[in-house]
Amino acid sequence: MTEVKIQGQQTILSDKSHTGKIRPWREKKIGNQLLAMAYEDVNPRKAARLRECACYLIFRKLVDGMKLQEMNSCRVRLCPMCAWRRSLKIYSHVRRIMDGMETERSYRYIFLTLTVRTCQGADLQNTIDGMMSAWQRLVRLMSVRRAVKGWYRGLEITHDTEPLISGKRYRTNPKYYKSMGLNVGDANPNYDLYHPHFHCVLAVNSRYFKTDEYITHEKWVELWRKSMRLDYDPVADVRRVSGNTAKDVAEVAKYAVKDGDYIVPDDWDLTVETVRLLDRVLENRRLVAYGGKFKEWHKRLNLDDEMDGDLIHVEDEEEADAKEKPEIVTYVWNVGYNQYLRANE
Ligand SMILES: [Zn+2]
Repeated sequence: MTEVKIQGQQTILSDKSHTGKIRPWREKKIGNQLLAMAYEDVNPRKAARLRECACYLIFRKLVDGMKLQEMNSCRVRLCPMCAWRRSLKIYSHVRRIMDGMETERSYRYIFLTLTVRTCQGADLQNTIDGMMSAWQRLVRLMSVRRAVKGWYRGLEITHDTEPLISGKRYRTNPKYYKSMGLNVGDANPNYDLYHPHFHCVLAVNSRYFKTDEYITHEKWVELWRKSMRLDYDPVADVRRVSGNTAKDVAEVAKYAVKDGDYIVPDDWDLTVETVRLLDRVLENRRLVAYGGKFKEWHKRLNLDDEMDGDLIHVEDEEEADAKEKPEIVTYVWNVGYNQYLRANE
């Protein structure tokens, strides 16, 4: 491993996963600091907690690479550092649950995304409350209970922070903008609107697609519409998991809110107001939930809670090297350099 040093003195953190991916510690800590600044106006106590988050990292050296042994986690819902660790944890949990279930019998998996229309910030709380109740109604419906043997449900909220229609945005859906007589450079009609939606993994019997348990896309739209008590057809996306399960699971185990959707350095007022709103809306909310076989295996595997549990051991454990005295390395966040620097050398 090549070490990069500052002024020939301290080593800069370089932590790679076994697949060679650089773990984004620095990027997440920078996001965490911006969020702490926004929280100064929203909730100074949370701002202080955020500043303490991952301010030092203690790793154990492995034959190849390093493994996190200790860090402080603030667990503020919006913290980019904690959200990243949490998404890794959810990913690893969902995969382990699915592996466990497969030892019992063979299942097929479906990815289901359930949405409602975009809403104003003022309506976000109510909209999410409505979705949570609707989900409970949905999974109790006879046809769903018959088809779905287990489920994982994650909440994601996207927030549109672009005041104007960019060329890139226009090209993703020209028909939509044309239908409203809008062009590149015009005011974005969805600016500052929120889009809460559920990402779900459903386990079904291996013969599901060939039986009358099968729920078509149209039927999902109808069931969700009924459960949500809507007067319009909501958008639902149903996909069968075919090949790359790992990639698909990573898709659903995403962040509740991407930091780019609330940290908008060009518009600090928007940042603070968005943080204020999301902080309130996400407080004490179950962002991820499990049901049926997923819930059963979550318990059986003794997995801890993704929201309140430990955010250190979040990746699949590979305890290959049982060295007597592992070498410990500590990195400390340096505000001036905006880098993690090695402490004990
Ligand atoms: Zn944190």
